[in-house]
Amino acid sequence: MRKTVNCGVLVVGAGHAGAALAAALRRRGYAGSILLASDEPHLPYERPPLSKASLLDAEPSSRLLQPEAFWTDPGIELALGCRVERIAIARHGAVLSDGRSIRYEWCVLATGARARQLTCPGATLDGTHVLRTLADAQRLRQALGSARNVVVIGAGYVGLEVAASARSMGKTVSVVEAQPRVLSRVTSPPVSEFFEAVHRRNGVALHLGKGVSALEGERRVRAVTLTDGTRLPADVVVVGIGIEAETALAEQAGIACHGGVLVDSHFRTSAPGVLAIGDCSRHPNDFAGGMWRLESVQHAQDSASGAALTILGQAQAYQDVPTFWSEQYDLRMQSAGIAKDADDMVIRGDIRQGPFSVVYLREGRMIAIDAVNNAREFMAARKLIHCRTTIDRAMVNDSSVSLKAFA
Ligand code: FAD
Repeated sequence: MRKTVNCGVLVVGAGHAGAALAAALRRRGYAGSILLASDEPHLPYERPPLSKASLLDAEPSSRLLQPEAFWTDPGIELALGCRVERIAIARHGAVLSDGRSIRYEWCVLATGARARQLTCPGATLDGTHVLRTLADAQRLRQALGSARNVVVIGAGYVGLEVAASARSMGKTVSVVEAQPRVLSRVTSPPVSEFFEAVHRRNGVALHLGKGVSALEGERRVRAVTLTDGTRLPADVVVVGIGIEAETALAEQAGIACHGGVLVDSHFRTSAPGVLAIGDCSRHPNDFAGGMWRLESVQHAQDSASGAALTILGQAQAYQDVPTFWSEQYDLRMQSAGIAKDADDMVIRGDIRQGPFSVVYLREGRMIAIDAVNNAREFMAARKLIHCRTTIDRAMVNDSSVSLKAFA
C-alpha cells in the first residue's frame, strides 16, 4: 500500500518559480505545509549563470535560489530526485516517484520547460549538447575543455551567450541560425545587427539564414553540414533552438494546455485547486497583448508571488511589464515590454559602440525598450511602459534628455 501524505501546497518542480513560491508563501504567513517535488538532484539553483559566468569555471556550479537553511523549515519539505508521476484532479491527489501518494489542498505546476532537440540525421551523436540544467552545464563544460571547434546551433540568447563564453575560452566558434538575423525572436533588426557585429569582432563565424541538414561522425560528432552544403568541423555542438513547455503532467490530468498550461490572471488552470506558474504557463498579459508564455526569471518570480496571493485568498489580477536580460562579453542587454506591435522606434545613444537604447512606441506610448549597458534608461523606461504614459517623440529622440524626465 502506498503511504498517503497530506499537504497544504504541492509544488511540482523546484526551479525559479517553485522555489519563489515556497518563499512567497512563507513570507506572507501561509501556515500550511508545503511539499516541493523536484526531479533534479540539486538544491534549487539559478539557471542564468549556466550559459554565462558558470560555464567559464572548471567545475560549473550555480548560486542557490534560497540559502540552504531555508529548506530546513519544518513546514517545507523539499523532495529532491523525486518526480510527480501523475495528478488526479477530482480527489486532489498526486503520486510521487518515491512511492508516496499525496493529498493536497493546492497543487502548483512549476514544471518549467525542456530544451528543444534537433531532429536531423546525426542529432544524437556524442558531443552534441543542450543547455537547460546544471547537469547539462557540467557535461558541456567538460566537453569544452578539450574541444577546439565549437558549433552553436541557434542564435537566441542562450546560443549567443554560449558562443561568447566559448570564445572567452579561446575556442573556434561558429554560430548557425536559420533566420536571417540573430535574436530575431526577441529584438529589432538594429539590435540584431549590433550583436552580429560584436560577435564577428570577437571572432565568431556567423552563418545566418542557413539550416542544419546533418551532424556527421561515427560515434562522436565531427562536423555539421548546413543546408547550403557548408561543412563546419565540430568537436562540440551546442543546440540552442528554444524550449518546449513541460506540460505532460497537466495534459495527462486533462488540464487545458495550448503551447503551455493555460491560466487566468490569478494563475488558475482549468482544474479546480491547480495553479501553474513560470515557464510552463501561458497567461493573459495586457502589456504584451493576448496570451503569453514568458521565459524569464522575472516572470517565474512574479507569477510565484501572484499564485501565493491566490492560495492565501488575496488574489490580485497579475499585470506586470515583462523583463529579460542577456550577458555577452562585456555587454548587458536589459529589455522591458514586448515590441511586436510597435509602430515607431527610436535609437538613443551610440548603437555602434554602446551604451545605447532602442525605444519602441505604439500610438505615442512607450511599449518596450532594449537597453545595452544602459541600466538607468532601462529602469526609467520600465516605469514609463508600466504607466502607459503618452510621450513626446521629439524629446525621446534627443538622447541628451533623460528618460526620467518623462516620468
Ligand atoms: P525551471 O527553472 O525550468 O524549473 C522547473 C523544474 O521543474 C525543473 O527542475 C524540472 O526538472 C522540474 N520538473 C519538471 N517536471 C517535473 C515533475 N513532473 N516532477 C518534479 N519536477 C519536475 N532568464 C532570464 O530572465 N535571464 C537570463 O539571463 C536567463 N538565462 C538563462 C540561461 C540558461 C542557460 C537557461 C536554461 C535559462 C535562462 N533563463 C534566463 C530562463 C530562466 O532560467 C527560466 O525562465 C526560469 O528558470 C523559469 O523557471 P521555472 O521554475 O518556470 O522553470
